[in-house]
Amino acid sequence: MKEINAADFEQEVLMSEKAVVDFYSTECPPCEALAPKFEALAGIYGEQVKFIKIFRQQNRDLAEQLGVKSSPTLLFYHNGKQVGDRLTGGIKKSDIVANLNLLLPASEIQRFAERQKPILTSFDVAVLGGGPAGLTAALYLCQAKINTVLIDIALPGGQVATTHQVSNYPGFIEPQLGYMLSHQMSEQTKLCGTSYKVAVDVAKVDLLQKQIVIDEFETIQAKMIVIATGASPRLIGIPGENEFKGKGISYCATCDAKYFHEKEAVIIGGGNTAIEESEFISKFASKITIIHQFDKLTANKTAQDKAFANPKITFMLESEPRAIEKAGDRMRTTVENLKTGQRTIVESDGIFIFVGMSPNTGLFGKVLTYDPWGYINTDEDMQTNIEGIYAVGDVRSKKYRQITTAVADGTIAAIAITRKIDLTS
Ligand SMILES: Cc1cc2nc3c(=O)[nH]c(=O)nc-3n(C[C@H](O)[C@H](O)[C@H](O)COP(=O)(O)OP(=O)(O)OC[C@H]3O[C@@H](n4cnc5c(N)ncnc54)[C@H](O)[C@@H]3O)c2cc1C
Repeated sequence: MKEINAADFEQEVLMSEKAVVDFYSTECPPCEALAPKFEALAGIYGEQVKFIKIFRQQNRDLAEQLGVKSSPTLLFYHNGKQVGDRLTGGIKKSDIVANLNLLLPASEIQRFAERQKPILTSFDVAVLGGGPAGLTAALYLCQAKINTVLIDIALPGGQVATTHQVSNYPGFIEPQLGYMLSHQMSEQTKLCGTSYKVAVDVAKVDLLQKQIVIDEFETIQAKMIVIATGASPRLIGIPGENEFKGKGISYCATCDAKYFHEKEAVIIGGGNTAIEESEFISKFASKITIIHQFDKLTANKTAQDKAFANPKITFMLESEPRAIEKAGDRMRTTVENLKTGQRTIVESDGIFIFVGMSPNTGLFGKVLTYDPWGYINTDEDMQTNIEGIYAVGDVRSKKYRQITTAVADGTIAAIAITRKIDLTS
């Protein structure tokens, strides 16, 4: 693996037979999650494919030239030509492997696959998801001397790691940087002795057999499972969103706001996250247009007051985006006024979408029961309808989703599990 600057791009990438390039940034949780996967794959595929890292903040012109608008972005090259998919955001190891395989002959693909032998590991409890809820559950379980593994598809931290500042987590007088707060939580859980399997692909979860398959070759067998997979940004589902995700559309201000120095941004949403993150983005951007469907914002009063007093922010209320297009380097958002039906085009250098979250339950299927919004039902001890399967934090059906309520759920599940294990041993 090699770190290069723009000046070496032609020699190291365009003139190589096979290369994969990682454009990364600092203070970027998905970049940190990608780093160990990229390094591990460099160890396997490095003889055949050049693994290159480029620091986007110091190589902005090259990044812009290549249309890199989001960190991290992975680009694949074959004889100087870009091939395969452009991967951005929370990148899965299996997607990288699929694109690396496009560069290789079938015999080589087979050879690399054979290097990974299936293994089985056993734990008392597997905690799936390392946000505040999962980290707290794992901490309590670890302190109760219960053999616990924490599994996450990214690095631990969850949504907190992508939050600029947290000012309402008790115990801190000053607002805390989100990634620092999540780092402290994770270190506390790790130092206790919890086993960590992070930045892995979770390929399959069998809740009835209590088995989790990670990276397609390791099966984890547990006596109990705590589901703490949280929630992910909801998509708005308009034309252009999928096409320009990571190429002008972002869902993470912490990752991408710093590239908006003296640039114009459109923000879609009017809740707490949209308004608080707009304030942060305005530290860099010259102009922000907030598009919100209602006639009033739904964010808390303090955040609203700040936003209304911010001269860089203007509002398009009772309006909804209908389509997103790109013209050269500029993004064009078609916005419909819901009262008049009139459509206008708002131009910007990039778009941030903050329209709420949806629960990460895709792997669990119909064996669990859910509320009408797709969140997992539990009892007061956080146990689901399946004995020994618990759900905690934002993924669980409840009224208020905050860090404090997530850590509370994690605590309750861990204590309930500890009591059960004590009784049976
Ligand atoms: C921008 C923003 C700002 C916020 N600000 C605040 C604030 O100021 N104060 C506050 O109290 N709350 C705030 N929140 C809400 C708070 O962050 C959440 O309520 C809290 O993080 C929920 O914790 P969790 O552990 O349940 O889930 P998450 O934080 O969502 O963590 C879930 C974890 O599970 C992992 N995961 C997902 N799928 C899988 C899978 N299949 N297998 C394994 N792992 C998986 C994810 O990678 C992640 O690490 C904010 C949220 C956002 C988005």
